[in-house]
Amino acid sequence: MIETDVVVIGAGPVGLFQVFQLGLLGLRCEVIDVLPEAGGQCVALYPDKPIYDIPGVPVCTGRELAAQLLKQARPFLPVDPVTGQVAHLHLGQQVLSLSPAAPTQPAEDDSQPPHRFTLQTTSGQTFKARAVVISAGAGAFVPKTLALPGLPPEGPAPVNLHHHLPIDGQRAPWAGQHVVVAGGGDEALQTVLDLTQAAEAIRPSRITLLHRRDQFQADAALVQPVRALMAQGRIELALGVPQGVELAWSDAGVNAPPALAAITLLGPDSQPRQLPLDHLLVRLGLSPKLGPLADWGLPLERKQIPVDTATCATSINGIHAVGDINTYPGKKRLLLCGFHEATLAAHALLARLYPDAPQHLQYTTTSTVLHQRLGVQH
Ligand SMILES: Cc1cc2nc3c(=O)[nH]c(=O)nc-3n(C[C@H](O)[C@H](O)[C@H](O)COP(=O)(O)OP(=O)(O)OC[C@H]3O[C@@H](n4cnc5c(N)ncnc54)[C@H](O)[C@@H]3O)c2cc1C
Repeated sequence: MIETDVVVIGAGPVGLFQVFQLGLLGLRCEVIDVLPEAGGQCVALYPDKPIYDIPGVPVCTGRELAAQLLKQARPFLPVDPVTGQVAHLHLGQQVLSLSPAAPTQPAEDDSQPPHRFTLQTTSGQTFKARAVVISAGAGAFVPKTLALPGLPPEGPAPVNLHHHLPIDGQRAPWAGQHVVVAGGGDEALQTVLDLTQAAEAIRPSRITLLHRRDQFQADAALVQPVRALMAQGRIELALGVPQGVELAWSDAGVNAPPALAAITLLGPDSQPRQLPLDHLLVRLGLSPKLGPLADWGLPLERKQIPVDTATCATSINGIHAVGDINTYPGKKRLLLCGFHEATLAAHALLARLYPDAPQHLQYTTTSTVLHQRLGVQH
């Protein structure tokens, strides 16, 4: 159980700036994202594309913007020097439920506002918060899955079935082994290129690209080098649609996850063939799923949450929504609009949670209080 002032749902660009704004005002917060990396759409959908309309930043890529936002929020998301873990940032877990918190026994400290909300995530983690900011974009980005007939629908997923790449600095589980990358779009082709160029310690010994036909729906700048590597025999191409799987069960008991040993493919010649593998990396892209958000009792307008423009407050006291997930007259789904909304939401939350705290506007250039919170040395 983690208790905090504010839980921020979504570590996209707006969620990261929300953490910064809340931290500046002295509010403690925890931020949660289903993706293994912070940055939302900027990192998941257009990491290498240029953005030209951030005030004061003539151009930066999606990934660069996310990295700068993380760096800016660092005083409130510090890195543990020993483990390298980022405190208060909870990645790889989806917020499943958001509900009113049950009163705690013994009664909570009267001098503090109560923890009014309980949130639960897919990792089994529970959070209690005094307020919640939803910065969930178009919903949780979940990887599109590959239909694998024969895989038991219930039970643990195979240990060697992956949808994400390890984030920087993590060891790749497929080092020195045979990886099958499924997909025919930008993401799959970029992945096979990255794998061929990976450092030796994390590079697979063999790479197969699995796609249903010998045509890719990807950028020509990716197709060309992939074709060249195929011609050199450094990437193999397996054509076909999975018809079944061969599983290997471990000796660790019936509840232990199996491993994929091979996939049966039905190729363009309608002949089944076995594709043995050590790891299957599915790279079919991500799709945003509103998922549990739709069940939280908040009214939705075209999958967006209506908010008050002065505070970004939703219709539930203590829950605010910022960024692409919210709507109001004149709403623009732009980064800079989301950053503005995060600022308004932070100030509104401070006034709501700690009405006796100083509410006057302070500048980061001149305020010693803000400098202290930011860890600025004089
Ligand atoms: C191709 C492309 C180019 C763009 N270019 C520009 C541009 O040039 N300029 C500009 O201003 N804007 C641009 N945009 C729009 C901009 O990216 C969005 O406005 C911005 O990403 C919104 O940020 P956000 O934090 O609100 O949402 P997102 O970036 O969508 O982040 C939301 C995060 O919340 C997570 N999440 C959602 N639900 C849950 C849950 N239940 N549990 C856990 N995590 C959850 C998601 O996984 C996601 O990481 C572009 C968008 C695209 C697709």
